[in-house]
Amino acid sequence: MSGRTPVCLTIATSDSGGGAGIQADLKAFAAAGVHGTSAIVGLTAQNTVAVTRIVQIDPETIVEQVRAVVEDLGVDAVKIGMVGTSTTIDAVARALELVPADVPVVLDPVMVAESGARLLEVEAHRALVERLLPRTTVVTPNLPEARALVGGPAARGDARGAAGSAGDDAEQLAAAIAALGPANVLITGGHRDRAEDLLRQSDGTLTVLHGERHPDGAAHGSGCTHSSTLAAQLALGHDLVSAARAARAIAGEAVRQGLRDVGRGAGPVDVL
Ligand code: PLP
Repeated sequence: MSGRTPVCLTIATSDSGGGAGIQADLKAFAAAGVHGTSAIVGLTAQNTVAVTRIVQIDPETIVEQVRAVVEDLGVDAVKIGMVGTSTTIDAVARALELVPADVPVVLDPVMVAESGARLLEVEAHRALVERLLPRTTVVTPNLPEARALVGGPAARGDARGAAGSAGDDAEQLAAAIAALGPANVLITGGHRDRAEDLLRQSDGTLTVLHGERHPDGAAHGSGCTHSSTLAAQLALGHDLVSAARAARAIAGEAVRQGLRDVGRGAGPVDVL
């Protein structure tokens, strides 16, 4: 790694409540000690209780934000979060062509919020798989998202699904997702289902990353924080297993010390 401050780029959606999305990503980048930049692809009117409006940014503005960052600041790792629609996914895929091929891309396949709001249109699943997964270094689904990636949204009715039901095989899911094109797969556990993450690397190596359960923590934004921290650790030059281990620990701690006193609903995680 060069002597300059690493730069991370989040391509994601704003959460007006400051709990998830772009706001959580930039906090996670700051906490990790990298410079955070953003290409905002959408806006949500959102608080700790509900998402009341979602607006997509026009495709050319998405591409132009990425171009502006890449051409001047340079990018050491990219995190992709909530993308919402297939039109936006197409713009993100075009924008990624501006990012050098050796820059790691972490894709968090955001589908449904803690509050239950649908954040990825059903018809956009295919675009996400076909347009983004092949350029992904690490995809970071939780278990319900992993099932949805493999089986499509109809497989369980809802990407939120019943977490961790008997017979779930994270190893098989990881292998099936790997076949869709991403180099590595990190199935994240966490506050709600399993405490541990499962990392499947491109050579098929499996690593279980243990974490502590914090069922009473505040978890809004935990997935965003986890994937952004992973991108930051990769930008800092850490190998994938170390980066994933650090991301597991930091995201868990962010849930544990989450802000239960902010808002009337699911309090945001706190990484600082
Ligand atoms: N809102 C935005 C903009 C997000 O990007 C995400 C998740 O990535 C969420 C809401 C959902 O966050 P959570 O499921 O942690 O509440």
